[in-house]
Amino acid sequence: MAEEQSSIQVCVRARPLNPRERHEGHRECVSFDEPTKQVVVTAVDKNTLLQLRGKTALGYAFDRRYGPECTSDSIYDDRVHALVESCFKGYNATVLAYGQTGSGKTHTMSGGQGIHGLVEEGITPRVIRHLFQIVENIQKRQKPGEQIEVTACALELYNEDLLDLSVRSGREELISKNGWDTVRASMGLKLQHTHTHTHGRVVPEVVGAHEKKVSNANELAKFYHDCMVNRSTGSTKLNDRSSRSHAIFTINIHRTIVDVLEEVGSDMKARVRTSDYSSKLHLVDLAGSERVKRSGATGKELKEACNINGGLLALGNVIVALATESEAKKESKKGHIPYRDSKLTRLLQDSLGGNSLTVLISCISPSEMDFEETNNTLKYANRACLI
Ligand code: ADP
Ligand code: MG
Repeated sequence: MAEEQSSIQVCVRARPLNPRERHEGHRECVSFDEPTKQVVVTAVDKNTLLQLRGKTALGYAFDRRYGPECTSDSIYDDRVHALVESCFKGYNATVLAYGQTGSGKTHTMSGGQGIHGLVEEGITPRVIRHLFQIVENIQKRQKPGEQIEVTACALELYNEDLLDLSVRSGREELISKNGWDTVRASMGLKLQHTHTHTHGRVVPEVVGAHEKKVSNANELAKFYHDCMVNRSTGSTKLNDRSSRSHAIFTINIHRTIVDVLEEVGSDMKARVRTSDYSSKLHLVDLAGSERVKRSGATGKELKEACNINGGLLALGNVIVALATESEAKKESKKGHIPYRDSKLTRLLQDSLGGNSLTVLISCISPSEMDFEETNNTLKYANRACLI
């Protein structure tokens, strides 16, 4: 693991005001104070002043802060580059985008045309290119018998149900015709955990998920693109499921390495040792973190809100517990990490903490109208930094 990086890193990214917000004359309530490394939210009216308990401004310190002018390029180089490299040394890694709907999670993870009109490549397409550059370099130096295999899988976690995003089988028509429960019963995947004998670790496995084998960057990029199209076409304005589901794209790297122990033995054969390594890299576009107004939400809606907020809350708790643990390591304390509290954290269990690298990118809107959610996101992200 890269020495200079701690295993959990949390950073903040603020998007620019969008044309509508500009047109309506929204003020910005977010600023960056470089000397103190703080992201500052400023109260713009009586209501927001109340939310800051009478303070006019509140600062949250983060190691890395990315303002509206920052590109995904710099976030990649700073935060993600080393993480991809670590996957070739046998480590697992996770990149998560957190934030309210409209704050820039999908823009950060997938890319697209931004508010400024420029098309920006997201983190996942960059990971795909970078990863295959490394694969090609390894293949050039490969010894006979060595192998490297890359596979990927795309899942959607909605309402504690896991669906395969690579399956294009008229899921939405089925949902509208037969209802969600029927579809879930026929298409929902099961998450199970197996104990590995070699490392004594618990490894989550999604039974029946399609694992696509890919041999180059273009193939993987196309698979990713198709899966994300499946995610967004599944949503309508009225039923925007994409903002209420977590999209989890996982890239697996399987490697067989041959070590020559003795060039030529007495039997005139080379003595070799072969070993297998597997790593996975999760790229996660989380569900919108906005608080669903409990008043009026009933039945299905309420259950959905509880599941989303429950998953994000559990994730926050796991990250805080891991950050605390890594601090306590110096005193060799081992705390309890509450992975079991949600399906999201159970699914990511072997790629958060331990020997894994995790980057949480907290996306925020700068508009005064989003003050409350922006403040909530900063509070959430800051919990893991204050340790
Ligand atoms: P989310 O996935 O969190 O709901 P999106 O990524 O869809 O939010 O972002 C909402 C809108 O803002 C999109 O049109 C997106 O292109 C734009 N946007 C988000 N972040 C940025 C950014 N950092 N720079 C430029 N445009 C952005
Ligand atoms: Mg999105």
